[in-house]
Amino acid sequence: MIWNPKYESMDRDSLSQVQLERLQATVNRVTRNVAFYRVSLATAGVSGEDVRGLSDLPRLPFTTKDDLRRSYPYDMFAVPLRDIVRIQSTSGTTGTAVVVGYTRNDLKTWSECVARVLAAGGMTEHDVMQVAFTYGLFSGSFGLHAGAERIGACVIPASTGGLEKQVRIMRDFKTTALACTPSYALAIAAAATEMGVRRDELFLRVGYFGAEPWSEELRRRLEESLGITALDNYGLTEVLGPGVSFECERREGLHVNEDCFIVEVIDPSTLQPLPRGAEGEIVLTTITKEGFPLLRYRTGDIGSVTDEPCPCGRTLARMSRVQGRIDDMINLGAVKVFPSQIEQIVLDFKGLEPHYEIVVDRVKGIDTMEVRVEISGAMPGLDEMKSLEKIRARLVSDLETATGITAKVTLVEPKGIARIAEGKARRVVDKRQL
Ligand SMILES: [Zn+2]
Repeated sequence: MIWNPKYESMDRDSLSQVQLERLQATVNRVTRNVAFYRVSLATAGVSGEDVRGLSDLPRLPFTTKDDLRRSYPYDMFAVPLRDIVRIQSTSGTTGTAVVVGYTRNDLKTWSECVARVLAAGGMTEHDVMQVAFTYGLFSGSFGLHAGAERIGACVIPASTGGLEKQVRIMRDFKTTALACTPSYALAIAAAATEMGVRRDELFLRVGYFGAEPWSEELRRRLEESLGITALDNYGLTEVLGPGVSFECERREGLHVNEDCFIVEVIDPSTLQPLPRGAEGEIVLTTITKEGFPLLRYRTGDIGSVTDEPCPCGRTLARMSRVQGRIDDMINLGAVKVFPSQIEQIVLDFKGLEPHYEIVVDRVKGIDTMEVRVEISGAMPGLDEMKSLEKIRARLVSDLETATGITAKVTLVEPKGIARIAEGKARRVVDKRQL
């Protein structure tokens, strides 16, 4: 279902015109109101008048996460604090948190963008959505919450923590839609199985998963175990929160809300824009935000973009599913690999559980990788030991084929790998940093 046909299915020439006008207004506004941009635009020798077409976009300076950290807490705000009605922030796990402010209009835009995400999964006022993201400074919960309310669906702000509680709520409150991280959904599914809750006791129909990279194989597992259609959505707190891009029923890429964001892909080493279809770093410019506008924000996420028309009827460009962040990329000597690539291979095996961790270490100056995966069921007998050895050997060879890395593979007894209690899964242990 298309929530807003005017913008989601606008012909691309008109869309470009909307983007250009909004970009010009944004550049003028940040020049006036944000000292950081006044300086960086002057340094780049560009003013609002120089932006005559979208092709002028690459002349504008980039904004990095470090720029945002240096502006902590309020220096990037483009309006006085009295016009800000909401604060959210990044977790700050990898440095100073980034604080983001929303005006009243920003909150309206946000719920509009998320309503499109949810409607694409068929959400209507008849749905009951359980939001199992942490409610707090993290933007995921509030974004999904507001989008569902905008549609008129019933929202259950379940937050995180207590997997049994999630399952009970899901069954007793007749939840039809679940919003959380894919890894948390997996933990909820496992808890339901352990509690003996059958799929036919649940009313779940659709899952909206995001806030971490995940694989097609994990999608298949989630759909099987929960009896749902699992959809990917993408966003980041600095740029908006959830609602930047989303999958339609075709699930061949994530439509970008281009009337609110201009998406580019750049080569992260040369910083040059890449043509459509090429993989690189996703760069986003906000063109409707009032409180916290960003020019050419380097997201650190790796993906590609296509303008090819989608059979769903939306004309909005599509991003590929994000494989991972530049920060998450595991560098083993000359080889680069994303945890999601390893997940895709691991989950393809019968007899293995979708619980794994990747341990990276340096032994005598050489980088090593160990993949630890749980096996299903009770500890095996002798015959099964042989078949487990076969699985292990094939996993080693599949990983080598796909990534070029000869990894050590360790099969771990059931529950041998710590479950996440809430939030995002930590898949990689890098001992080289210790
Ligand atoms: Zn589509």
